[in-house]
Amino acid sequence: METPRLSSLYQQLILEHYRNPRNKAEMDEKTVEIHMANPVCGDEIRLQLRIEGDQIAEAKFVGQGCSISQAAISMMTAKIQGASLSDAEGLAERFTALMHGDTEVAKDRSLGDLRALQGVSKFPVRIKCALIGFDALQEALKKHAAEGPH
Ligand code: ZN
Repeated sequence: METPRLSSLYQQLILEHYRNPRNKAEMDEKTVEIHMANPVCGDEIRLQLRIEGDQIAEAKFVGQGCSISQAAISMMTAKIQGASLSDAEGLAERFTALMHGDTEVAKDRSLGDLRALQGVSKFPVRIKCALIGFDALQEALKKHAAEGPH
């Protein structure tokens, strides 16, 4: 069986985010926090958002894990800074579709650096790694909606 490989350009981008993660820090002013773990790989993160009105004013994360999980959440937090809640939800849905092999979404340039992870969809055991940040984001948006505005 042929082993699919991530293109080297995309691999470099993933490693760059892994080595220099964006928005990796504790946030004191968070309004919602979600802990998410992927025991299969050992990935564990806490996503922290400061939501103001219908906007993500700030997004940060702390945690550890493999390069895929850490790069994906770094890319995600960079994309959702200042985004509206509906845009963040839409991004989560598009990225989840990308991880499930949606080839139309793969052409979506608005995904930015996240497109570097499209090759992960060929490795079923790694999909959970790539999705841990967005799973946390979707949980955070649900929790925020359930608790009402602060
Ligand atoms: Zn992982």
